[in-house]
Amino acid sequence: MAKKRPMRVNLFSKVKLVDDPLSGLLSEERQIQPFAATKTYICPGCNQEIWPGTGHLVIVPIADPNHRRHWHTSCWANRNTRFPKS
Ligand SMILES: [Zn+2]
Repeated sequence: MAKKRPMRVNLFSKVKLVDDPLSGLLSEERQIQPFAATKTYICPGCNQEIWPGTGHLVIVPIADPNHRRHWHTSCWANRNTRFPKS
């Protein structure tokens, strides 16, 4: 009997490497599709909730994945004005 490959759903369509302004660590920027957003998160850019079913971004420090943060797409796009580089 042939081995079946486990079915994989690719929830992270595009992955980019970015600098996380909060941790200062090199991080992966992953897009979360609306159907994959099943929890409510607090966006560190505006301290507002990201509701389930909202497409957004998650920033995952490569060296410290437990400190990933979920961001509104627009807040992440404006992060350099909210968190100016020193
Ligand atoms: Zn936000």
